Amino acid sequence: MSKKAKKGLSKSSLSAFMMRLARLFFFETKLSRRNSQFLNKERQVTFSSTENNTTVPEDDTATIFGQASFHNFRGSVGTKKKIVVFAPHPDDETLGCGGTIAKKTNEGYDVHIVYMTNGENSHQEILGIVLNPSPQEVSRIRQAEAERAAKLLGVNHGNLIFLNFEDGTLEKATEPARERVLNILEKLQPIEIYYPGETELHGDHRFTSIIVKDSINMLRIKPKLYKYIIWPSKGQNKKELKNEVVSDILKFAHTKQFAIQEYKSQTTIFSRTQRRPILSNRFLKKFQRNSEKFIVE
Ligand SMILES: [Zn+2]
Repeated sequence: MSKKAKKGLSKSSLSAFMMRLARLFFFETKLSRRNSQFLNKERQVTFSSTENNTTVPEDDTATIFGQASFHNFRGSVGTKKKIVVFAPHPDDETLGCGGTIAKKTNEGYDVHIVYMTNGENSHQEILGIVLNPSPQEVSRIRQAEAERAAKLLGVNHGNLIFLNFEDGTLEKATEPARERVLNILEKLQPIEIYYPGETELHGDHRFTSIIVKDSINMLRIKPKLYKYIIWPSKGQNKKELKNEVVSDILKFAHTKQFAIQEYKSQTTIFSRTQRRPILSNRFLKKFQRNSEKFIVE
C-alpha cells in the first residue's frame, strides 16, 4: 500500500467514522424527541384523567353564588361531590331551592333529595277533604309529582329518598327519623346540605330542621349548611338577616317554575271537592324570583 493510498484510506475511514457518529447523533436526537413526545402525551393523559376525577371545584362558595361556570363537568363520572336536600313535604325542595338544585345538577354535582313525609294530609288539614282524594291517594299523587319535578331539576331518580313518615306528625317520630337521616348522611358524606330553618311556622319543617342539625352534630361532619325559607315566622327575617346569602338562579328560574307546576295537587283546584288550591297564587309569587335566599350558620 502506497503512502498516498494509506493516507487516502485513513481519510476515508475517518469520514466513515464521522458519518457513523452523525447518524448515531441523529438517531439519538430522533429517539429522544419521540420519547419526550410520548412523555408529554402521557402527561396530558394524566392531567385530563385528574380533571375528570375532580368533577367539582373545591371552592364551593364561588360555584353557588359566583359567576363561575363548570358546564364541562356535566356527565362526569367518579368522585362527584354530593349535595343533600331535605324536604319535609314534596314541593318544599322545589319551592325553597329548586333553582339552586337545577344549577347544581347542571354544574355536575350529585344532588340527592330526602322527602321526610309524602304530604298526604294536605287536603285533609287545609281543606277538610278526606275523600276524593283520600290521604292515601294524595300520598301517591305527591310522590309522583316529586319524581317529575326532580327530573326537571336534573336529579336522578335513584337519588330520591322517600322516608314515608306521616305528614303533620314528624314531631312524634324524631327518633326513627333521626336514625334514617343519620344513615343517609353517613353514607353520602355531602359537602352541602339544604334544609328548612328551625323557626319555620310548620311543625314538620321545624322538626326536619332539628333532626338534620342533630344528625350533623352526631356524625361530626362539616358540610356547608343552607337553610331555605318557606313559612317564615314573625321576626325570623330580622334575626337571621345578617346570615342571609343569595343564590343567583336567573338561568334556571324557568326550570324551577316548570318544576313547581308539576305539583298540581298543591297549586291547582285538583279535585271536584275543593274550591281553592292549597297554595295561593300570592304565596307562589314569592318563589318566582330570579334568586333564592338561604340562611347560613
Ligand atoms: Zn312543607
